[in-house]
Amino acid sequence: MRNSTYAMMLAAAGVSVLFARAGSGSPAFAGQSATEPLSKTYRVTRADDVEFQKIEPFKVFDNLYYVGPGYVSVWLLTTPEGNILFDTAQEPYVDHVISNIRKVGVDPKTIKYIVLSHGHLDHFGGAAKIQEASGARVAAAEEDWKMIEQVGSHPGRGGAPAPRVPKRDMTVKEGDRLALGGQTLTFHLTPGHTPGVVTTEGITVYDGGKPYRAILWGGSGYRGGLADAEQSLQSADKVAQIQGVQVNLQIHSWAEDNGYPGGGVLERGLMLKSRKPGDPHPFVDPATFRQWVKRSQDNAARAVQEEEQKVGR
Ligand SMILES: [Zn+2]
Repeated sequence: MRNSTYAMMLAAAGVSVLFARAGSGSPAFAGQSATEPLSKTYRVTRADDVEFQKIEPFKVFDNLYYVGPGYVSVWLLTTPEGNILFDTAQEPYVDHVISNIRKVGVDPKTIKYIVLSHGHLDHFGGAAKIQEASGARVAAAEEDWKMIEQVGSHPGRGGAPAPRVPKRDMTVKEGDRLALGGQTLTFHLTPGHTPGVVTTEGITVYDGGKPYRAILWGGSGYRGGLADAEQSLQSADKVAQIQGVQVNLQIHSWAEDNGYPGGGVLERGLMLKSRKPGDPHPFVDPATFRQWVKRSQDNAARAVQEEEQKVGR
């Protein structure tokens, strides 16, 4: 989508009312370029504007809600036997996430599992507090449990106390399944972004009762070095082999340098708000997901080449 289209869409949807916290008295867009996609504003331009980040939760499917702050996703999947939370954001947003969960009518105590996409603080930083509030089990890959424990054993930024981290609980291995309330999720280890990225496939979301297959790719790209680049290429290839994905649950509303084609989480959230009966669901977009995976494969292949050149292969 071109930027001018974004701007028109956002203006038409009255974005400041829909997503930003009222109270400042000024529209959320004041002082920013009218052509910048909303997801970029949250992830990049106003990433540290705490009150701005505290957006209202929104229902995306019959059984799926967005309950995170603006820059990092927290997805709540509901089932008749209890609920599953994907990622947890970090301080100072954790109370906001818990309050968003309540706002969509879900008692935090009904959350049975918290699945962590990977061991970066912006995704796991709320897990300890949300685990206490809910009693949920927390799942992550072995390699990233190590990262989480590392983060929890060192002072935070600027000498702040070490971030609170969840105790090592469930360890996810390749191909593990989690069945709950009619959902059977399958986990894949897709390292590269971190050593223990967890990708969840087989999430079934419903739109007016109609089922769609969703995926949550736990993080693409790589940290640096040839081995990581090779890992990230293998992981992108692995994700490409997962068939039938119709919905991409992005871990960030804005990704890499160009967001997500056709709009990230927040743009699609706005389209959903103004959707008319019979319109397609803006999050059901298998073609864009496939393009995105292809692009990630290409980027990873290029990174491998570049790293090979660096080491003189
Ligand atoms: Zn990360």
